[in-house]
Amino acid sequence: MSGGSKPKHEDAQAQAAKVAAEAKTRKAEEQAAARVKANELGQIPVLMYHRVMKNPAPGDDRTPEQFRAELERLARENYVPITAAEYVTGKIDIPAGKHPVVLTFDDASPAQLTLDGMGRPAPDCAIGVLMDVAKKHPGFRPVATMYVIRDLFGKTRKEEQIQVLEWLKDHGFDIGNHTHDHVNLRGKSQEEVAKQIVSMHNEVISLIKTPPITLALPYGNQPKNKEWALHGTYKGVTYNYKGEFLAGYTPAQSPFTKDFDPAGIPRIRSKEKEKNTDCAKFCSEAWLDWLKANPNERYTSDGNPKTVAFPKFKAPFVSPAFSARTLPY
Ligand SMILES: [Zn+2]
Repeated sequence: MSGGSKPKHEDAQAQAAKVAAEAKTRKAEEQAAARVKANELGQIPVLMYHRVMKNPAPGDDRTPEQFRAELERLARENYVPITAAEYVTGKIDIPAGKHPVVLTFDDASPAQLTLDGMGRPAPDCAIGVLMDVAKKHPGFRPVATMYVIRDLFGKTRKEEQIQVLEWLKDHGFDIGNHTHDHVNLRGKSQEEVAKQIVSMHNEVISLIKTPPITLALPYGNQPKNKEWALHGTYKGVTYNYKGEFLAGYTPAQSPFTKDFDPAGIPRIRSKEKEKNTDCAKFCSEAWLDWLKANPNERYTSDGNPKTVAFPKFKAPFVSPAFSARTLPY
């Protein structure tokens, strides 16, 4: 031996030990995934809310009691909220055995978030209810995505708009774009589509220096070319969104599957089952019942955000973009 370098056989031994240790870790990860029946190719409910208020007119709005009851059901059934941005980028970091849910709020009304004089959410606004439910259900992470338009929670002064958006940002919420004037993009020119998106995009950046990552289509209507809502340029400002959300009617695909289409992500209206209406099948109570009755179709986490775990037999559905992270078992 000379010069202090290790003999070759020791290198080979170290290498073999490393490979063996990796195989052991892998095996343990597979067993852990199997134990909780992890299925990170399963479906994820993206719930759509509008206002939360007392005595709402018939339609999309919910009472604080209805909203609270739905959140408590989600907590009981082992859902953990993630944001739309986390969902579309595949950053799903929730404990093993839990299911992600995305809570989305459209139109930026004060019924969603009003801060009191100390900067706390009013108890009866949507976010006040969400924070309270999370306090009573440890592990139920209080985050959501707010799809904003120019109304900005009823605030007209820039300073107050900053207060509300900063509160959301500081608490892990994400701000999405819902167009500046809540315009139906169906039939609009590419330039009009880009103008609407860029105006709200710029406004959010000017207030909190954080660009939106996803967009919700007003009325759920896509423009003539659905890509126009994801990518575009107007007056020198370029946007590249990672997700374009519709207004109906099914759970959404896992971002790790081939079937995930960022240009048309379905959402589910929050509402009880109602006979002889769409909500008999296509609103939140009906779909949460379905996901509960069909656990193999639902996304279940293995608790490790670095891997994409699933029963081997589902392997053909993995998106090639995530093939390096797969953990079939
Ligand atoms: Zn809207």
